[in-house]
Amino acid sequence: MCGVFGVSLTNRNEAARYTFLGLYALQHRGQESCGIVTSDGEALATYKAMGLVSEVFNDERLLRLPGRIGIGHVRYPRPGQSSVINALPLLARSRYGKVAIAHDGSLVNADELSEKLQAQGVIFQTATDSEIILNLIAQADTTDLEQAVIMAARQLQGAFALVIMTEQCLIGIRDPLGIRPLCLGKTEDGYVLASESCALSTVGAEFIRDVLPGEMIVIGSQGFNSYYYGWHGEENLCIFEYIYFARPDSIMSNRSVYQTRLRIGSQLAKEINIAAEVVVPAPDSGVAAALGFAKESGIPFELGLIKNRYVGRTFIQPTQAMRELGVKIKLNPVNPVLKGKKVILIDDSVVRGTTSAKTVQLLREVGVAEVHLIVASPPYISPCYYGINTSGKSELIAANYSLDEIRAKIGPDSISFLSLDGLYRAVGNGAAQMCRACFTGEYPVPIPGEKPNDEYKVRCV
Ligand code: SF4
Repeated sequence: MCGVFGVSLTNRNEAARYTFLGLYALQHRGQESCGIVTSDGEALATYKAMGLVSEVFNDERLLRLPGRIGIGHVRYPRPGQSSVINALPLLARSRYGKVAIAHDGSLVNADELSEKLQAQGVIFQTATDSEIILNLIAQADTTDLEQAVIMAARQLQGAFALVIMTEQCLIGIRDPLGIRPLCLGKTEDGYVLASESCALSTVGAEFIRDVLPGEMIVIGSQGFNSYYYGWHGEENLCIFEYIYFARPDSIMSNRSVYQTRLRIGSQLAKEINIAAEVVVPAPDSGVAAALGFAKESGIPFELGLIKNRYVGRTFIQPTQAMRELGVKIKLNPVNPVLKGKKVILIDDSVVRGTTSAKTVQLLREVGVAEVHLIVASPPYISPCYYGINTSGKSELIAANYSLDEIRAKIGPDSISFLSLDGLYRAVGNGAAQMCRACFTGEYPVPIPGEKPNDEYKVRCV
């Protein structure tokens, strides 16, 4: 999971500032590194570094990024790839002039494409899929950049939402299944592309619509043109965006992420009946589901855990040791809300189980009478190959242990998961067509070497 942003203004040389603000709003999608490229119409300028947007950019750095067109990227960590050389956007000189690219998602045929390009003599400097895509664009047998992007996109398998720019234009393109999100907005004098609509609001842009699966949008000084290069008839947007990734104030595929999470909580309360005195969310992504649960069940909602906002999301830290340390400094209990109480703890998901185990332990240390963990998603049983760093199947707790074993490992008095049907009901129309491979093992784009529907131990309650 990463965040991409692009802006094309007609009159103002403020692309860097817009992109900075857009990336700020998308920081939750990746905290390892970030970067911006801008164009003043004649040359491209770039700056990227490891760290948060607020750490990497300041007024002085933004002033060195002149121009009215810009793209930006926030990157999440991948094991073994934590280096500034892999920070995006990438910038290269080609027959189309200078081209810059930033990518959210992951290609399942990256190895195959990379080997093919290397056999043709291409040398790679980074471990990114973006460099593969940039080379495919550069090698396309056409002098027209838009055609070259389409020819490259047709060779890609997997998930991608790309922003691409030259000195004169901005391009947004989404994979034919629409696994990763991308939306389009309008400012007073230009257009904006972003992974999530929350970034449009932040820069004062009006939401126009999602870029559709298999669509390429080309934004020039006269407006934008849309091209369809690979529409497959249905959208397979990642359902996990609604559970965890996206910011609650974003709208995706015409659904409010916040309201979807409320419905997930309400659905949980219909499926799971536990006598308790208080409903406590695991902050922050469990908050809306816990509110929905409390409303439906009538059990009071309390903020029993307070998050230290200056620590990165533990789920996307690169090593287990860092993740464990991250949890310890991340949450603080509100003792009077918890002590001696029967607590329902609502968490958005359980992937490795590390975070949940630490949270349950924290509640026990405070002296809760009982803690019942309710998970606002079905058991996560298959790795994601479309851009989410969940590692291999051997690390996924629900893929390897029974419900009782998971309860024993994490430590609550009981553990319950949302049913798959319940998730579909809460997400609403079209949910059953979305990518939900991490809950079912059914991958919309086949994964080399992965057996579909592998046996797994945990079934939804
Ligand atoms: S496998 Fe899961 S996390 Fe990955 S894209 Fe599909 S729904 Fe999203």
